[in-house]
Amino acid sequence: MIPFLFSLNRNEILKMPSIKLKKGRDKSFNRKHPWIFSGAIDSVKDIKVNGETVDIISGDGKFLGYGSYSLQSQISVRVLSFNPGDKIGREFIQQRIENAIQFRKQIINDESTNAYRIINAESDSLPGLVVDKYADFLVCQFLSSGAEFWKKEIIEILSNHFKPKGIFERSDSDVREKEGLQQSKGILYGKASEGLIEIIENGNKFLVDIVLGHKTGFYLDQRVNRKLLQNFSAGSEILNCFSYTGGFSVYALKAGASKVINVDSSAEALSLAEKNFALNEIDSSKYENTQDDVFKYLRKLRDTNKQFDVIVLDPPKFAESVSQIEKAARGYKDINLLALKLLKNNGVLFTFSCSGHIVPDLFNKIIADAAADAGREVHILKYLTQSPDHTMLTSFPEGLYLKGLVCKVN
Ligand code: SAH
Repeated sequence: MIPFLFSLNRNEILKMPSIKLKKGRDKSFNRKHPWIFSGAIDSVKDIKVNGETVDIISGDGKFLGYGSYSLQSQISVRVLSFNPGDKIGREFIQQRIENAIQFRKQIINDESTNAYRIINAESDSLPGLVVDKYADFLVCQFLSSGAEFWKKEIIEILSNHFKPKGIFERSDSDVREKEGLQQSKGILYGKASEGLIEIIENGNKFLVDIVLGHKTGFYLDQRVNRKLLQNFSAGSEILNCFSYTGGFSVYALKAGASKVINVDSSAEALSLAEKNFALNEIDSSKYENTQDDVFKYLRKLRDTNKQFDVIVLDPPKFAESVSQIEKAARGYKDINLLALKLLKNNGVLFTFSCSGHIVPDLFNKIIADAAADAGREVHILKYLTQSPDHTMLTSFPEGLYLKGLVCKVN
């Protein structure tokens, strides 16, 4: 073996997998955008394993940094480091994870809120990796081949740090297939949660189903917006559309709402909402759960004379891709127009879009169009976005997906 090794020249021995960009295609990298698309790549060398770490070389041969290479995705490289002086390995990953944890310690009081996002993928410089904490359990999503490549190390680092009862994987997302990975779901460490997990969020209690619930179980991104609703809740009659497990409703009722109607198409979500009301000792005369399609239900209400003090519209993602933007915009306009008509004078609308492809300007325009068609005067009281544990980077605008408006309606 040794004589053979010595017969190789130095470059061959030190050979690292690498990608070379096309000439002039390093602008996005230089602005620290973490994605390199296949069209920007001139050549690849010595890449064997999906997700392995590659050197990134500019078109004129300059060593730029490191990334994880996907053998299948159009996003060929997700940048791990913009600094050629870094050494990519377990310690590097650990440093990134600890940095993310440190920030959550600064912004979250674990006594009143024990469920939050610990790692927000690209926006925490750990592409494709999502980690949410639900009390003593962690739920992970490995959404890129790079995140999958480092899975073992990531689980070890997280289990050493948090000593959780269990770490559960919810990589059951379509995006895995674009990366050449199969969907995956199950226990990665420790034990399974026995049934639902009880969490506390701003002092409110919720039961979370990390196995069957949406995303990793709960819409943690709406935490700050749920709290804001409390300012408009006392004595109010509230319609909570797309209510899921009653997040906005529990906050509103705890803050003195006189009545809340939850509308959702999912029987399971509404049944969990019922449990959440009981857990927070909310009197059953204060709420109604209605299983229906919101588009149809708002029309039914339009045909009655019912009016509300506050309406919340928090629909699922209507635009999954650029090609769906127009149709999604029509959907958003439709529900907002209907809701605006159902509000009392000086009523308040909390309206959201979690479609990343619907940019803030477009969302504002949709609401303005709905206001014009509804014949209502709409004041914007506040622009909303995702809770700060769902970090955003100026260099990665794709990380902003949740937009919301609080509107006063006359
Ligand atoms: N506001 C919630 C999250 C809403 S998620 C919270 O704070 O937790 C979106 C919800 O919309 C899901 O519960 C889903 O079941 C429901 N949904 C999707 N399409 C729907 C439709 N057409 N009509 C009613 N509910 C719908």
